[in-house]
Amino acid sequence: MQVLQTEPLSGLLSRKICGLKAAFISAVKSGDFVTSAVGVYNIIKKMITEPQDQTGGEQLSLENLPVVAYVEIDRYCDGCGYNLRTQAVCRDPRTSILVCRCPECARFHAATDTVTSARPWLHRLATLLLLIWIVVVISGAGSIVLLEFISTAVSFEELTRWRRLPASVINAPGYAGPRYKYELRPMDRENKVFVAVLISSSFVLGFTGAVFATVIFCHWRRRYYFIVVLTIPVLIGISAYYIWKINAPSLMQWCIPYIFAHTIAQILGGVIGVVSGRPFARLLIRILIPPPLRSYLAFLWLVDGKQVPGVATNSTR
Ligand SMILES: [Zn+2]
Repeated sequence: MQVLQTEPLSGLLSRKICGLKAAFISAVKSGDFVTSAVGVYNIIKKMITEPQDQTGGEQLSLENLPVVAYVEIDRYCDGCGYNLRTQAVCRDPRTSILVCRCPECARFHAATDTVTSARPWLHRLATLLLLIWIVVVISGAGSIVLLEFISTAVSFEELTRWRRLPASVINAPGYAGPRYKYELRPMDRENKVFVAVLISSSFVLGFTGAVFATVIFCHWRRRYYFIVVLTIPVLIGISAYYIWKINAPSLMQWCIPYIFAHTIAQILGGVIGVVSGRPFARLLIRILIPPPLRSYLAFLWLVDGKQVPGVATNSTR
């Protein structure tokens, strides 16, 4: 139930019939039957097409009623989606139903939950969506880790080329080793730009991952974010080191600083992301999302003990 019906339908009809009677009387008195006929037609049309007056003639005013409680859970207005949490709850004296009112669109809401047959299905749907959400989060986190790994370990291959070993080595009796070996390409301007872009992308990946972590896992303690943004780049760096140590031991002189630069860039991006992640997300939301919809993301403010800008919350809490 969203709206309180405060006027019975019979009262509504009697008001309309009164209007119809007045139109007839004025038609008879004035003698101008054409104008009056139009008036009568309009009243009849209104009776048929006008939606039922939902609030009734007299508005229920919550201001004069004693506040019996506040909405304690996240409940969203059916009309505009506004979060009704913290709104005052009053008892409607005519129906004894506990009601609250949306401060955005003035719609009335029953303060207590109504249980319908849709409820168990909504629970099942919520479980399904939660599972999908978990898959999305895991694959999102996995993608960032994978991209960091590619940026660190795989990209180094782009700086190298294969070189065929001299025939004297390959054809030497008893030689069973590889015929090619990795060799560093000449460090020209293009390669330097390529390295700079890759190291920057490592920074961006670290930052992005940390921002997502602070937003999606906003229930974590802060030190867990720092543990994650330190551990993942270090593990990636170690695995990249061993991969290249096996593949191209002769290039380790270049490979180690290269991997180290990526690891540092990822950690730096991660630390900046942890510190500025939620403020950054809040800034984006303020830019992109109008205030009535922000109540869905209010947790980003509430988790840091802040007021949601543009979203009124009850000052009594
Ligand atoms: Zn509303």
